[in-house]
Amino acid sequence: EEVVVDDFVGRYIDTFKIKYPDFKINYKADGLHVFYTDPVLLGSVFQNLIENAYKYSHPKKKELSINITQKKGDLVFSFIDRGIGIPKNEHQNVFKKFYRIENQYNQNGSVGLGLAFCKELVNFMNGEITVNSKVNEGSEFIVTLPNEN
Ligand code: ATP
Ligand code: MG
Repeated sequence: EEVVVDDFVGRYIDTFKIKYPDFKINYKADGLHVFYTDPVLLGSVFQNLIENAYKYSHPKKKELSINITQKKGDLVFSFIDRGIGIPKNEHQNVFKKFYRIENQYNQNGSVGLGLAFCKELVNFMNGEITVNSKVNEGSEFIVTLPNEN
């Protein structure tokens, strides 16, 4: 179905700002994009990545930048936080089911499925998800999805 990216992302950001008033979320897109996708699946990916960015950031640095760019037929969604980061040797592991890295921000009720679920959804949408991250600096999750019009 047709998703107007600006409206879609704007709604997510508004919801999170109500849920987490101390969360600073920046959003930038390189144009007005209309995207043909399943908004429920895309929403689940957003939900998990935004939750993680909040959860794994220091209390006084709860900041996320969402950038959207178009590359040929693909839309590229980038989520950049300034959180605790992920060691390089764990970058591939975090997408595994039930895989978690012990840290001060782990919460009861977290099971390590969020990113595994994101990966399943993104693969199902014929896209890709990758991570760049440095410990104590932050993380970037990049979701690339083909525009299937
Ligand atoms: P769940 O999502 O099921 O509630 P979870 O957040 O622990 O639990 P994932 O979302 O799959 O599980 O993330 C796996 C692990 O990757 C986390 O335990 C955390 O250590 C690390 N991680 C995920 N996102 C980030 C991030 N933005 N910054 C730092 N570490 C992260
Ligand atoms: Mg999670």
